[in-house]
Amino acid sequence: MLKPLLNGLWVTLKHFFKKPITIQYPEEKWTPPERFRGRLVLLCSDTGEPLCVGCGLCERICPCECITVIPTTNDNGVRTLQNYSIDLMRCCFCGLCVEACPVNAIAMGDEYELAEYHKEKSVLNTDALKAPACKSESCRAIAPESK
Ligand code: SF4
Ligand code: SF4
Repeated sequence: MLKPLLNGLWVTLKHFFKKPITIQYPEEKWTPPERFRGRLVLLCSDTGEPLCVGCGLCERICPCECITVIPTTNDNGVRTLQNYSIDLMRCCFCGLCVEACPVNAIAMGDEYELAEYHKEKSVLNTDALKAPACKSESCRAIAPESK
């Protein structure tokens, strides 16, 4: 009878002096681990152009059907991207689109504060998807090295 009680008190005592693993969100921000799968981002070239060539493979492999790729052809006859959009309300952050991309043009970013009051704001187009990504070293690192 006394032994289980002492065992319980010992466990409590051990944890009493450990650093808490909880944080005071939103005042304190959580730092995601390196392989965290947050909001999808479009990676860009040094000139700021998306690397996406509009092949549509990510759109086809997406199990939630939340990606829409509209390709176009530029003046030189090269296939390029007219618009890329994703509906974050439907995305399950599986990362299959990143795996499927043949040119490493997309990556799972580290952004996780994605709540919106209006669901139409969760549909992000090319500009919204590429802006923060191109400034983020972590986003650049994820796509090419994950393959
Ligand atoms: S992470 Fe998964 S669900 Fe989200 S867009 Fe990519 S393939 Fe679709
Ligand atoms: S992101 Fe990759 S897979 Fe998707 S359309 Fe662009 S090039 Fe193709």
